[in-house]
Amino acid sequence: MNKLWQKLALNFVAVAITVTIVALLAVNLSYEGRFRSYVKERQAINNHRIIQTITNIYKVHGSWSDELTDLLPQLGIMSGVSLKVLDLNRNVVAETSPEIEAMMMGENAKVAGETAVIPVVNDASRVGDVYITPLGDIYGVPSEDLRFRESINRLLLLGGAMAALVGLLLSYFMAIRMTSPLEKMTAVAKKIEAGDYDERVDVSSKDEIGDLAYAFNHLAQTLERQEDLRRNLTADISHELRTPLATIRSHIEAYIDGVMEPSTENIISIHEETIRLSRLVDDLGELAKLESDKVNIVKTKIDLNDVAEKVVFNLRPLFEEKGVSIELSKVTQTLSVKADADKLYQVFFNLLHNALKFTSKGGRAEIRLEKNGKNALAYIKDNGIGIDLLKHSAIFERFYRVEKSRNRSSGGAGIGLTVVKDLVEVHDGKISVESLPGKGTEFTIVMPLFK
Ligand code: ADP
Repeated sequence: MNKLWQKLALNFVAVAITVTIVALLAVNLSYEGRFRSYVKERQAINNHRIIQTITNIYKVHGSWSDELTDLLPQLGIMSGVSLKVLDLNRNVVAETSPEIEAMMMGENAKVAGETAVIPVVNDASRVGDVYITPLGDIYGVPSEDLRFRESINRLLLLGGAMAALVGLLLSYFMAIRMTSPLEKMTAVAKKIEAGDYDERVDVSSKDEIGDLAYAFNHLAQTLERQEDLRRNLTADISHELRTPLATIRSHIEAYIDGVMEPSTENIISIHEETIRLSRLVDDLGELAKLESDKVNIVKTKIDLNDVAEKVVFNLRPLFEEKGVSIELSKVTQTLSVKADADKLYQVFFNLLHNALKFTSKGGRAEIRLEKNGKNALAYIKDNGIGIDLLKHSAIFERFYRVEKSRNRSSGGAGIGLTVVKDLVEVHDGKISVESLPGKGTEFTIVMPLFK
């Protein structure tokens, strides 16, 4: 039994059976009690009527007469009892006959209860006794009453069976409804496994299955993005490797062919390319580290003021060396965020380091912190060379450099801002840039404050 609908059906049928059994028990128990008192009441009324009839007959004749002998069988059968009347000397005056009873009442002629002995009283004196024995089934209950009870039980059983059947059908359809999105997910998962990443599950329900489908689609999207990144990364790396390698190769080939002299100047150019290759390898290492760091983020409550202060303190000598001023304006209160202090250090470090790289002597850099509603803001500003408006979103991409040549001297491979953006997003933050060529650049980071 490994189909969901079979499991559901089993549960439904079990519930239907249990409910039926409980209903049967409850009905029968309460019925039993009421039945007994009903039977007693009925017998008491019956007995009273019988005694009254017999007393009346006695009254009419003033003594026990043969009329009673004639009437008694009829009275007995009509009342569903067998009767015996004794006078004061304990002589039988009249009695019903079991043969006639059997003939008239059939199955119901059997004794069904204790015999009641009731005195016959005429003019305040006892004249004899009547023995009344109920006939019928075990309760002395007329068969129609029993049939009523039986029919209730039958109805309950029928209801239970119907409930089980409905449960069976219901579970089948419910399971189909529930499992169809699961089956879809399985199919999509298989496609993804085979490398087809753009498949998604189309489930609109708002329940747990909907949540699962949503999470599943999200996972598929992440996998797709990862796959894209992996592909792009490989393309990026090969692209980055191609240029320096081609330069080195063409130089060496020219030396071999004797077209070019391996002069110091020419060898320096090869050397520069090898340096570039080494940097690329370092940057790739950094990128790999970032990927693993992203998994190892340890967030605690920290004060952004402290992080900014530490970065400025550590970078100040480099700024002074180049002749660029650096300023820090903190918030007076603490600026608490839930973050990994080392990672935020790296964010501020990369941004300030860029500000230093792209600002010439005599320039100015600044890091300013602010609190705004539920957010912490950090502005990192310089009045350096600036970035063309069209390149604002591209600078966060891997290996992107505004001018390849200008950065070669400053040493970047276009990874610093990729790292910054990734780290800010890992902290549920956002980074944006405003910049004008020749005027300077300002990066803004928005992060949720610690609640
Ligand atoms: P890099 O390692 O080249 O600095 P980044 O990812 O840090 O790589 O930056 C990408 C590019 O964005 C840089 O090459 C540079 O052209 C531009 N850039 C970044 N920060 C600044 C800045 N403060 N001023 C001017 N240009 C900047």
